[in-house]
Amino acid sequence: MIRLTKLQVPAHVAERLASRAERYAELLAQGGEIPDSVANGYNHPDVKALLRQETADKCAYCESKVSHVDYGDIEHILSKHHRDDLRFDYANLTYACGVCNNKKRAYHNEEIPLLNPYQDEPEQHLAAYGPMVMRIPTSDRGLVTERRLDLNRGELVERRMERLEQIETLMDQLSRTTNAAIRMVLEEQIRQECEADKEYAFVVRSFVSCTREHVS
Ligand SMILES: [Zn+2]
Repeated sequence: MIRLTKLQVPAHVAERLASRAERYAELLAQGGEIPDSVANGYNHPDVKALLRQETADKCAYCESKVSHVDYGDIEHILSKHHRDDLRFDYANLTYACGVCNNKKRAYHNEEIPLLNPYQDEPEQHLAAYGPMVMRIPTSDRGLVTERRLDLNRGELVERRMERLEQIETLMDQLSRTTNAAIRMVLEEQIRQECEADKEYAFVVRSFVSCTREHVS
């Protein structure tokens, strides 16, 4: 998980969410059954497209690139089952893979909320050791986030490891190269691999900073 920033919501998306929220509130006030099409009215392609742009098409929690393996879900950071008032609030929406969404389900705990990548600094609660993401010992929120989302599930650790092996190769090349031009190219490539739009940037950044001290 890395820190994310909310984008400016274009007027047409804000209006769409507002009108759907209004319809939902009307039906709620009437007390009848609310059809799924209204209850899930936040699920609009324009909303999803904006969220995908925000997360660089990655799951906001596990940082897997979503679209090539999954449709991806619009996810309520604070569960809509507990915070129905935030059901249509763009600030409470993000983009997540089906696995994280499913593992998180309706988790809600006022005292120990899961980390919110838009409000919290993930590195104050979680640390990467190679391909593993562990909680920082003092952080209860790091603990529940790691456990609840199962951030060290087998296939995730395997894919992170593949990423780190690519970075390892680059660091190795960098340490063996004396040519200034080649070093510059490698440095730039390594810098790009740490950027927010890259898969598993959290573990990659940590790996690069740990191995850098061994690269002269
Ligand atoms: Zn995920």
